[in-house]
Amino acid sequence: MRTDNAAYVERDLAHVWHPCTQMKDHEHVPLIPIRRGEGAWLEDFEGKRYLDAISSWWVNLFGHANPRINAAVRAQLERLEQVILAGFTHEPVIRLSEALTAVAPAGLTRCFYADNGSSAVEVAVKMSFHYWRNVGRGEKRRFITLSNSYHGETLGALAVGNVELYKDIYQPLLMDVITVPSPDCYERDSGESWAEHTRRKFVHMEAALQRHAHETAAVILEPLVQCAGGMRMYDPVYLTLLRAACDRHQVHLIADEIAVGFGRTGTMFACEQAGIRPDLMCLSKGLTAGYLPLSAVLTTEPVYAAFYDEYVTLNAFLHSHSFTGNPLACSAALACLEIFRSDGVLERNRALSARLGERARALQDHPHVAEVRQRGMIVAAELVRDKAAREPYPWQQRRGLAIYRHALSRGVLLRPVGNVVYFMPPYVITPEEIDLMVEVAREGIELATCA
Ligand SMILES: *Cc1c(COP(=O)(O)O)cnc(C)c1O
Repeated sequence: MRTDNAAYVERDLAHVWHPCTQMKDHEHVPLIPIRRGEGAWLEDFEGKRYLDAISSWWVNLFGHANPRINAAVRAQLERLEQVILAGFTHEPVIRLSEALTAVAPAGLTRCFYADNGSSAVEVAVKMSFHYWRNVGRGEKRRFITLSNSYHGETLGALAVGNVELYKDIYQPLLMDVITVPSPDCYERDSGESWAEHTRRKFVHMEAALQRHAHETAAVILEPLVQCAGGMRMYDPVYLTLLRAACDRHQVHLIADEIAVGFGRTGTMFACEQAGIRPDLMCLSKGLTAGYLPLSAVLTTEPVYAAFYDEYVTLNAFLHSHSFTGNPLACSAALACLEIFRSDGVLERNRALSARLGERARALQDHPHVAEVRQRGMIVAAELVRDKAAREPYPWQQRRGLAIYRHALSRGVLLRPVGNVVYFMPPYVITPEEIDLMVEVAREGIELATCA
């Protein structure tokens, strides 16, 4: 039997329907079959290696086939692979809940589990709505969201998100939400600071709360970075103002830390940079260091207490997924938190993100790069047709795809979002690998913007 790349591609394309893909693209865009991974590198079936500059879709934190996480999952596998979490429990989920509530913003003491990010958003949305019903405020059933936000692909998550490309077609199926302009600092006026712009944009949120708080269950947002929306960033002051406004208006604050949690923005959770505690916090992706599907919604005692009653009141949160709190996934998450605890990861990342920022800032001088922005271990370069006017390239030209293809040929996995080239590497990346990744992106930008 053939074991070259082409053999696997042929078999794959006969049956596998890939996510977020126009399958016809694979008539000319090569599909890459991966045989193994080690550290920040992936290897195909012909031995070609690719530096994983996007952490395999923002999930991987400590490299592929990490020996410590492997050992933890293997040990758990010998004991218990899965058990129903209703009526039963197990050690990994108990220990993980203790560990998560210990590192989360103080006051988030309760953990509800699901098995992917979108499901965690569904849980948070249902839980907030149900909370208000349980406390006799059933009219509070709407959600306030930011323009350009992303919260996942299931119908509830899609409804509270705002990336047109993913949402528009399904609009007839979605609940109606209140959308407020994003504080996205790419849109700041020249000479305006991030904080000034962010503060100015909060006016819209305050107005929406004043008008709709009586019918609103929660505001949901991605703290500090709108990742799928093109790595657009804003100042922490927005979160500070939002926390105070949500308290004033009696509306929940749902922090979707699915992409930005676990050290991505420089602190364990992005909310910490504003010193706030959300009412509900969604976690996934890096939760298991990118090993296994798992998500969690952390919440407070008051929220938990509103569901705690005699069965016949039907106040319970009767939401479940078959694999809720899977023991193998929990064991990977525990190993991940242990690495944070023992290895001084956030400290080490400060040096890496300084290197990354310094190298990437050189891209700023390119005639088709409008901005290079950074928050911790996320750095993005925004490509434009006209730098002075900040006029974007038409999306139909797919300039990002040209960069993706060039990077692959040079052994780097970059996957621009539209016209935004970004780096979101695993934390085990070395300074030399950072230099390689940025250099290849520079070549790709050159190539993609020359005609
Ligand atoms: C990826 C992501 C989700 C959805 O998570 P899935 O596991 O892909 O369903 C939700 N919110 C944010 C901010 C994300 O980046």
